[in-house]
Amino acid sequence: PNRYLSELPTTIFTIMSQLAVKHDAVNLGQGFPDTEGPAELIEVAAAALKDNRNQYAPLTGLPELRQAVAASNMRFYGLDIDPATEVVVTSGATEALAACLMAVIEPGDEVVLIEPLYDTYLPALKLLGATAKCVRLQPPHWSLPENELRAAFGPKTKAILLNSPMNPAGKVFSEQELHLIADLVREHDVYAICDEVYEHLTFHVKHVPLMTLPGMRERCMRIGSAGKSFSLTGWKVGYVTAPAALASVIAKAHQVMVFATAPNLQRAVAHGLNMDDTYFQQLSADLEGRRDLLRNGLHDLGFSTLPADGSYFIVADISRHAAGRNDVEFARWLVEHAGVATIPVSAFYDPNGPEAPQNLIRFAFCKQPHVLEEALKRMRAAL
Ligand code: PMP
Ligand code: GLN
Repeated sequence: PNRYLSELPTTIFTIMSQLAVKHDAVNLGQGFPDTEGPAELIEVAAAALKDNRNQYAPLTGLPELRQAVAASNMRFYGLDIDPATEVVVTSGATEALAACLMAVIEPGDEVVLIEPLYDTYLPALKLLGATAKCVRLQPPHWSLPENELRAAFGPKTKAILLNSPMNPAGKVFSEQELHLIADLVREHDVYAICDEVYEHLTFHVKHVPLMTLPGMRERCMRIGSAGKSFSLTGWKVGYVTAPAALASVIAKAHQVMVFATAPNLQRAVAHGLNMDDTYFQQLSADLEGRRDLLRNGLHDLGFSTLPADGSYFIVADISRHAAGRNDVEFARWLVEHAGVATIPVSAFYDPNGPEAPQNLIRFAFCKQPHVLEEALKRMRAAL
């Protein structure tokens, strides 16, 4: 078998979720909501199943969903997108990421990544024969080091993969940072793959797609996920917005990997994207309340936390409680002794790179308030 894949360890999300089950723990590790998404979407999906929507959908997605993706690009960001040629529906953002990489990478290319990074990025690009050039955000403010970012771009760079709002850091890139990235993308004539699955989950800061900046419309592949925008992570419906010349190649990648995504779910996601602004405002307001609840509770327990302006996640510094343990050991201790599962942040760094920070763990706050309260209560008793 393929050596790289055989040696790839089991994902940290599965490991921590298994430990959570074993220790009957509150699971603040893997990022998924513990309540269902909007009932009206589930009803549309169920009705579509009974309405003979059970054969292959068109390769690039149901016209009604491509139309809804284009309309929401205009509504939220003023982006004028052609639904016929500039949208590709995928089976989750995970597939979208792989398809976008496949669409531009040739063996030997370099891709700029920003650490800490989501765990599929490195394997996906390495399997295509590309090399990662990682730039590290600097705790405690998750600042982007300009000189290191500049130095990561070179003659072999093909693309940057940017995740904002960011998992696991909870960082939302500022307009100033986005302008710096856009300048480098233009200067080096490269592409930008923009993982924006948490686009609607920001807390009093504006999410700005890189694609809206000067010169970026023709270079960006912008990825969204119904899992995150509608709290339906099991559905695995994603969508890419890209200029036609790239979208047609992304569609080829989708053709060889998946071909078409479940039509009933696509119909429901189209319905969701067409819901009015109050839905999206409520989604982020609810989540912000949960972020505040957990963050305040962590502060009361003596943890300091890093900025978390978007996504499902907040990162805490464990130094005060770690008693010599690194993040992996502490996360294991916490699940075994407090009954609270988290994710060690070192898992989000290139294992072959310089040593990752050892003092940070990630909490998911996309859980019901009483669940977050229970986790805090358990930690209070154990620490
Ligand atoms: N990118 C990031 C940053 C994520 O956090 C996730 C999901 N956890 C994904 C992509 C994958 O999204 P999907 O479930 O739609 O494949
Ligand atoms: N994206 C989710 C997280 O970061 C997990 C997704 C997965 O388990 N692959 O927690």
